[in-house]
Amino acid sequence: MKLLKFIFAVTLSMVCLSAEKNIVTSKGNILVTGGNGYIGLSTCRALKENGYTPVSVDNSSNSIIPTITWGPIEKGDILNKKWLHKIFKKYKFSGIIHLAAKIYVPESVDQPLLYYRENIDGLLNILELATEFNVKGIVFASTSAVYGNLESEDPVLESHPTQPLSPYAETKMIGEKLLKFVWEHHKIPSAILRYFNVCGIDKATDNKDGHSVHLIPSLYKAFQKTPVEVKIFGTDYSTSDGTCIRDYVHVNDVAQANVKALEYVLTKKEPITANIGSGNSYSVIQVAQAVSRYAKLDYKEIRLQRRPGDIPVVVADITKAKETFKWEPANSDLENIVKSYY
Ligand code: UDP
Repeated sequence: MKLLKFIFAVTLSMVCLSAEKNIVTSKGNILVTGGNGYIGLSTCRALKENGYTPVSVDNSSNSIIPTITWGPIEKGDILNKKWLHKIFKKYKFSGIIHLAAKIYVPESVDQPLLYYRENIDGLLNILELATEFNVKGIVFASTSAVYGNLESEDPVLESHPTQPLSPYAETKMIGEKLLKFVWEHHKIPSAILRYFNVCGIDKATDNKDGHSVHLIPSLYKAFQKTPVEVKIFGTDYSTSDGTCIRDYVHVNDVAQANVKALEYVLTKKEPITANIGSGNSYSVIQVAQAVSRYAKLDYKEIRLQRRPGDIPVVVADITKAKETFKWEPANSDLENIVKSYY
């Protein structure tokens, strides 16, 4: 009888575990804030493929309701700490990938208070709960915009002095500082990833659009119309052709970097700051020409004023991410990025 009871109890617990298989996995639950967004969806997919359960927390402000899902989705706002507390209690996260933020430079110049409220308060809630619930590691989405005006087109190292020039970049810089305090005082390590220009389409998720205001999706849309008119914001920068120079990195590579960086902080238990780019530099005109070549269509340039808050040039030195995480921007060839939109 005792044996029968034992078998019954074991069977019952196995059934319960499998019913909750979205919540309990061998490698643990990872909170992905902004998990339904452009980078979030690919990150959730990469986490799932690497044996984690991504739990997406998203307020749907700049994201879709995915039909292809990679783990539980909790709709709500990270600014609502009471609600977020319940989420932390429910899932017992071992790690966090914090992507949710306001991210448009020109909008931040127009509405700085909104950017401070959302980006700083949101992060403070996450960090306070991370310390309360003993989270083991955090990945933080920072930006190449923290470098400000660089004198040359040479790839920039993480050790380069920072000089944020827009409210958006300032909020990310403050975020980096808060994570350093959390390491010093609470011993939670974080990977601060300075994303360069994230672009490209992850065809395995149902987020097909990307951010339409950014350069490559804007070009893709412009090339769908007749006549093809390409808007260029600023042609008088001190760069080779007068337009801004950037480093474009495919969203799938960024998602891989997020997972590798998470594994780094969870296993090494130490913080790191790393650039996540392709290491390649392209001017706005060169990107427009690449899309034109792929689409086999000519275009007319519409030369406009500089966009407020834009920095002239920023290109990543990615040696650190390559060497420490064994990460490669395998999908970030410009032609491959352009092709992914079609
Ligand atoms: N840009 C442009 N035309 C557009 C969109 C963007 O000339 O339709 C320029 C923009 O001014 C910047 C570069 O392309 O110099 C990259 O802008 P994006 O918004 O993609 O990324 P950011 O570097 O601002 O994060």
